[in-house]
Amino acid sequence: MDPWTRGTEEVPQLVESLRHREVIAVAMTVVDNAGITLVKTVPVDRLEKVVTSGVGLSPVFDVFLVNDDITTSSEVGGPDGDLRLIPDTTMLTPLSAQPGWAWAPADKLTQDLEPFKTCQRSFARRIIDQATNAGFGFRMSFETEWVLGRKEGDGIIPVAEGPAYGMNVLIVVSDYARDLLAALREQGIEVEQFHPEYALGQLELSVAPTGPLEAADVSVLVRQTIRGVAMRHGLEVSFAPSVVAGLVGNGCHLHFSIWRDGTNEFAAGNGPYGMSDTGQAFLAGVVDALPALTGIGSPSVSSYLRLVPSHWAGAYACWGRENREAAVRFVTGTKGTVSNAANAEVKSFDASANPYLVVGSVLAAGLDGIERELQLPPEVHGDPALKEEQDLESLGVKRLPLRLEEALDHLERADFLREAMGKALFDAFMATRRGEIELYAMAKPEDVVAATRWRY
Ligand code: GLU
Ligand code: MG
Repeated sequence: MDPWTRGTEEVPQLVESLRHREVIAVAMTVVDNAGITLVKTVPVDRLEKVVTSGVGLSPVFDVFLVNDDITTSSEVGGPDGDLRLIPDTTMLTPLSAQPGWAWAPADKLTQDLEPFKTCQRSFARRIIDQATNAGFGFRMSFETEWVLGRKEGDGIIPVAEGPAYGMNVLIVVSDYARDLLAALREQGIEVEQFHPEYALGQLELSVAPTGPLEAADVSVLVRQTIRGVAMRHGLEVSFAPSVVAGLVGNGCHLHFSIWRDGTNEFAAGNGPYGMSDTGQAFLAGVVDALPALTGIGSPSVSSYLRLVPSHWAGAYACWGRENREAAVRFVTGTKGTVSNAANAEVKSFDASANPYLVVGSVLAAGLDGIERELQLPPEVHGDPALKEEQDLESLGVKRLPLRLEEALDHLERADFLREAMGKALFDAFMATRRGEIELYAMAKPEDVVAATRWRY
């Protein structure tokens, strides 16, 4: 089938195209503060109505924990209230791995049809709009890593036994991978590459950069497609940060670049590697905020089983060109492509994060860097874990938080983020994170992994 083109088709035409593709119903997703994708669905025949008035959703979902326990926050909790879930039809896509279904990301609105104060997607959009009004544009993409396998009791049997990055693994998964690439193509997703990763049964897929909101939406769609195709092959998928305690985990790295008037600010000036002053200040804002951003991008107890040195997870708060042990890796691109390709990658993030919160908070951190005219700290080459303590000190390099508690302490002090997110969203997010800390306070790493492996 021809690839689906997402766009601005009027809703009646869109409904016609969906019927033509034999779509019966539309799945509308939001991602909660625990990083779980939640869904409500409507028959295609109701789509026109739902686009204007939405379907109901309790606000309490913003205080759900990863295990479905429910907590409360300053402004969310309890049985009262109702929101309207409104699908964004510009992203509507028929799902190749779920024939008869289409998908759209949704916003949470009040019954007066205003963005609701804990809507993560509206938060991302608000920051993007602010940046756009200041004349900036962005390109972003999330890399997706996952482990493919079968459930066995409390454990997992990975689909392949390596070798890491090996052709042997590709041969084992080749029918699955072909169907996955075909499904993504049909859904109009531009895949840049796919490969077997380091850990047993681990795979990775990267997609072309898009605008920031679309990047978060695409990340949600890519994950459901990966899982949907796997199910059709009788396989299970884990996007959890740690899939087997003590081994290399799954990252969900964010790539980004900042643009103005069609120019990439990471390759348009006299700063490090040709960054402009603006590009440098934006990146410096992100680097400066890394300890607090860790609370958003590595937000689960499982995140800290993954975020350890010498595992390519970027466990140090620093930056370096092509340094896979720095939380921020700067990528200059190949000769001839630099002005387009230069970008930065936050490596420390994982898929227990809500991608809308990640997008919004990274942009807020970068814009804060521009406002404060920050300069980048010294660049770090090599694995910080192998450096002497005094060398790290002279470079000003620290470990990222070792535990979720520590990351939340940094986040608590990040006033610019609290302000950008708004109190209701910030408090609800914090309440769920603290709830999970309490939930797993006595759990051994193996128990945390077993409890969360199949949740993300
Ligand atoms: N799996 C690694 C992680 O936990 C990343 C490997 C890579 O550099 O792509 O983030
Ligand atoms: Mg990778």
